[in-house]
Amino acid sequence: MSKYWSRGIAGLEAYVPGEQPQGTGWIKLNSNENPYPPSPRVIEAIKAAAEGGLRLYPDPDCMRLREAIAAHFGLSREEVFAGNGSDEILAFAFAAFFDQDEPLLFPDITYSFYPVYARFFRLRFETIPVSEDFGIPVEKFLRANGGVIISNPNAPTSLFLPLREVRRILEHNLAIGKVVVLDEAYIDFGGDSAAGLVGEYPNLLVVQTLSKSRSLAGLRVGFAVGQRDLVEGLERVKSSFNSYTLDRLALAGAVEAMNDEGHFRETREKIIATRDRVARELEGLGFSVLDSKTNFLLIGHPRAHASSLYRGLRENKILVRYFDRPRIDDRLRVSVGTDAEMDAFLDAVRKLVM
Ligand code: PMP
Repeated sequence: MSKYWSRGIAGLEAYVPGEQPQGTGWIKLNSNENPYPPSPRVIEAIKAAAEGGLRLYPDPDCMRLREAIAAHFGLSREEVFAGNGSDEILAFAFAAFFDQDEPLLFPDITYSFYPVYARFFRLRFETIPVSEDFGIPVEKFLRANGGVIISNPNAPTSLFLPLREVRRILEHNLAIGKVVVLDEAYIDFGGDSAAGLVGEYPNLLVVQTLSKSRSLAGLRVGFAVGQRDLVEGLERVKSSFNSYTLDRLALAGAVEAMNDEGHFRETREKIIATRDRVARELEGLGFSVLDSKTNFLLIGHPRAHASSLYRGLRENKILVRYFDRPRIDDRLRVSVGTDAEMDAFLDAVRKLVM
């Protein structure tokens, strides 16, 4: 607290990201990063961009990247927005589409950045409790609201809400003239994207990231797809903050990440196979494991408390995520690493629950 801070920031509760440990030897399963490197084509493109023109500003409209993303989804460039990580795009969406008149709605167990943004932009919000089994109770969203944001698959539950259920919320909000933001950070690990519904729903914004399935958490690139006026709304917010949110290296690398479909599919399949194997092995050790459609598992054990498992794993230099929050404080979120990393995790966990 400082006397120099504005009243606005003095009251903020900022988001706390997963720990990035210093030093070597850690098995890092706490931030849902991809354990495999990005496509070699990404590295080549970044090198060429570094040698090419850092003297010059990057393209403020991110044309080539938006074209590459549009081609991937069969959309036009005007239906794509690119940003500095999907966190930035989510923040822009809160500013662009949500109003004060009715509360913004999101599940009580979800990405903990949503309440942070809501407070930052001084929006009213209400959380809708997920069910006992962590499912999203769609009917509770079908009421007056100032907008809806849902992470699908949800984080940290890892559960996917089928598109026929998502459509119910879209239809309802279409009728009341409110936007639905779908945060699809983890969609490539087994869910069906709602990107194909953009033509049908002018109130739908789908946000994705290159941080997870395209191994580029360090590059900071995300994108959103939606009809033109939603994209223009995001552009208005962006251009009121910073014309160049994506630098030349990020733009060059991201284009190649979108274009190298083979690398994307191969690494994604490996992660899905490892996830499903580890889930079965954890169940064999007595863990309850939610049906993950993401690159992480939300797990709990009836006899070993999550906080002590977290500490025990940490002593073995294995980092996972523990949320000291109601309803999930008896569970751990474990990112899916390489097979070797997950074997080390399973060995450590086996000893801790014996
Ligand atoms: N949404 C969800 C649900 C996430 O878990 C994350 C990663 N912490 C993000 C968005 C943000 O990802 P990024 O800013 O790296 O694109």
